[in-house]
Parts: sequence; C-alpha cells; structure tokens
Amino acid sequence: MNALSRRNGELHLEEVGLSALAERHGTPLYVYSAGAIEARYRDFTEAFSGHPHRVCYAVKANSNLAVLQLLVQLGAGFDIVSGGELERVLRAGGDPAGIVFSGVGKTVTEMERALEVGVACFNVESEAELMRLEAVADRLGVVAPVSLRVNPDVDAATHPYISTGLKENKFGIAIGAAAALYRYAADADALLVKGVDCHIGSQLTRLEPFVDALDRVLALVAALNRDGIELDHIDLGGGLGVRYHDETPPTVADYAEAILARLGTRRETLLFEPGRWLVGEAGVFLTRIEYVKENEGRHFFVVDGAMNDLLRPALYGSFHGIEPVMNSPETPTTEVDVVGPVCESSDFLGKNRMLAATAGDLLAVTTAGAYGFGMASNYNSRNRAAEVLVRGEHDYLVRRRETLADQLALEQLAPPLPVSG
Ligand SMILES: *Cc1c(COP(=O)(O)O)cnc(C)c1O
Repeated sequence: MNALSRRNGELHLEEVGLSALAERHGTPLYVYSAGAIEARYRDFTEAFSGHPHRVCYAVKANSNLAVLQLLVQLGAGFDIVSGGELERVLRAGGDPAGIVFSGVGKTVTEMERALEVGVACFNVESEAELMRLEAVADRLGVVAPVSLRVNPDVDAATHPYISTGLKENKFGIAIGAAAALYRYAADADALLVKGVDCHIGSQLTRLEPFVDALDRVLALVAALNRDGIELDHIDLGGGLGVRYHDETPPTVADYAEAILARLGTRRETLLFEPGRWLVGEAGVFLTRIEYVKENEGRHFFVVDGAMNDLLRPALYGSFHGIEPVMNSPETPTTEVDVVGPVCESSDFLGKNRMLAATAGDLLAVTTAGAYGFGMASNYNSRNRAAEVLVRGEHDYLVRRRETLADQLALEQLAPPLPVSG
C-alpha cells in the first residue's frame, strides 16, 4: 500500500490533504498513516503464516502511544529497550506476555518492573547481565524467562552506526561463549531458558546477512539440543530495510521464504522485532520554507524543521525524499540544500535537491515514520513537533506541539550564586 499520493497536485496521506493539515496543526509536523502500518503488519504475519511466529514491534522506531495502540489492536507483541518503553506499551494496552526486553544496559529497577508485570522474555546481552537478572529474580522469588542475544559476527553491510552484529560491536554475547552461559542458565533456579536472539543491524537491503546469521544461530541451537537444552523460540531481531531513495530492499515474502527454507523442520516459534519496516514508510514530516537564500552561487531553502526534529540526515548522512506538498507548475525548479535553523552545519534535511518551490511553500520529507520523532530533542530550545495519525479521511492529533512552558517545567533558577569580580 502506498499511503502517499498526489491528487489535483496536492500530496495526500491516505485521504487527508497535507496542506490543510499543516494549516490546522502548524509546522513542523509528523503525520503517520494507520492504514500503511496496518498493511505492513498484515504483510509480515501473512508471510510467516505457515510457521508459529510473533511480531514484536521495536518500540524505539516510533513510540507514540497511538501508534503502539494501533499495533496492540492488530495483535502485535513488542520489543522494548527501556523501562520507559515498557510503561508506554502498558499504557497503550499491550499485554506483558507479548513483550521481549532487549538492550545492553538494563538496570535493577528496570528488571524488577519487568519481572513484576511479567514480560515474556529478557534478551540478555552479557554474562554480567545474566548474573544480575538471576540475583534480582531470586530476591523477588520469581523465575526470569531468558534468551541470550548472541552476536553472530556477520557483516550486515549497512551504515556502521546501525550495524550491530559484528564482533567489535557492543551488542550481544559472542556466539562462541553462548553455550556455557546457556548451561549456567539452565541449571539456575531463578532463570528459565526460553530462546535465543540475534539482531545484526538496521536498514538491511540484502538477504544474505540475515541468512548467515540464522545459520550460525541454528548451529548453536543444535549444539544446545545435544546438551539437552530445548528452546521455545528463535528471535531473529529486526533490521529489514525500507526505501528512502533508490534502495531495493527484499520483500517480506522473500525474507520469509529465505528464513523458512533455512529453518527446515524446526518448530520453534519465530520471533521478529521489526521497527523501521513497519512504520518508516508510513510517515511524512512536513516543514515550511521560511527563507530562500543564496551564498556564493549555492541555493538554500531555510525551513522550519531541523536536525532536532529529524536527526537522521545529520547523524548518519541519511537520504530522505523531499517534495513540495503542492505542485506549482509556474515555480522554477532550483537545485537547493534544504536546511534548518539550528546552529550546526550538519543541520540539513537534504542536499542538492531539484525543487520547484519558494518561500512560504510546504515541503514533505518522506519515509519519516521511523527514528524521526523518537530521536527529536530540544536542541536550540526548540519545541518538539506535533504528531498526527490519519486513517482514511480522518486525522487525529496524537501528540500536541510542545510549548516553551513544557520545556521549562523541569528547570529552576539557583539561588543567587557568589560570582567573582
Ligand atoms: C533497533 C532494534 C530493532 C529494530 O530495528 P529496525 O531496523 O528498526 O527493524 C530490533 N531489535 C533490536 C534489539 C534493536 O535494537
């Protein structure tokens, strides 16, 4: 489903015209299509319908409560990486029994809360974490369900900042060290071995790294079985890529076919942790051109959205499509850099773009549904953007625009301090 379309020259998300939406809610503005998220979720579960599986949406990709609520309604589980994400999922009505808890730095407090509500599984990322979890569960008199996140040492062939499956990355347990820890966990009264987990990186556009990782995980599972340790599930993480520019990521059907072929007759439940793939293409970021300027022959659109709103271009040099919301055949096309007002040279949304637009026009930055708002900050004391969810012809404000009062609410002046001079 392509939720974004142009009708009478105006970009629409589902049935909602984006100009009026921006008028009503102001800019910068994130807009998400519920229909697109639903279509992706159904495609994923359909592709694996022949095998027991659960899709645990990676909450960090887009943690808006209404997005989580939609995924709860669709029957998704959740992959969380913090106590904050746990509370969001619970607030959205999610069932703890569908939650897996990932992340390299789980605190005692986070473990206690997750055990208290009864998450499905902890994806344990180190020996030290396993020991801590055992101690916490023992103290509370409960049994902690665990899977070890193994690092299969495969090159995900993605941006180095979002590659996580190489042995030099901080993530997971070296696959060679896993068997001994499984033995330990299997013998511990306060731990219950549930599965194995790996997540090798994000925005993968080829199948080979997934298949290589699975092969190594399956070799481990076979070795564990020989040692008398049986698993309920195999968690293959997230990472399936989306289209930002001219990438051609595999379809979920191809992904499923490759994985199920490798799995053979194994009947462990498959868990997946897709984030970007479910929500990335469902979102657009709307921003208005404040100024058109030229420096030494270089042209700029200075827009009201910035790196604090959408960090990916500044952080990873990522490409996002940019289009005028209204076609205007009279406006000449110029080659421009689309930049924000933040005082950093890395504050750009796009470079060298051919755009037929001018001051006051509205631009849509596409594939902005994942790692967009979630990475937003108040840098330069900018209020974070509002978020809207659309479904058919309806639109719902699902996060109001931040105000300066919101920003200042947690701060206070110190008493007058002695100053020298
Ligand atoms: C970030 C992350 C995901 C989701 O990655 P996507 O590329 O958005 O699918 C899944 N699992 C873990 C452990 C992660 O850290």
